[in-house]
Amino acid sequence: MLPLSKPAPASAGITGTWRTYKPVVNLSKCIDCGLCWLYCPESVIDWEKGTKVRIDYDFCKGCGICADVCPVKAIDMVPEAGV
Ligand code: SF4
Ligand code: SF4
Repeated sequence: MLPLSKPAPASAGITGTWRTYKPVVNLSKCIDCGLCWLYCPESVIDWEKGTKVRIDYDFCKGCGICADVCPVKAIDMVPEAGV
């Protein structure tokens, strides 16, 4: 049977072009606490004690929770290019 519609990339979890802000980590401020990793609802932050925080922007939804919970304000929400 032929599908009636083809799923868009977002249906596979990949964030669409609708994200308006994205989190950028200032690693010189980061104290390696792991709170952003713990609270990210999408589990897109890669972190282990002693490693640098990395965010997978393909799946990050730009909700800003990581920036809110960071105790030293090491994460800035910056506008997406073209917004
Ligand atoms: S903005 Fe939201 S989805 Fe993206 S890394 Fe931060 S908490 Fe996770
Ligand atoms: S919450 Fe802030 S200080 Fe803690 S690991 Fe994430 S970026 Fe670093």
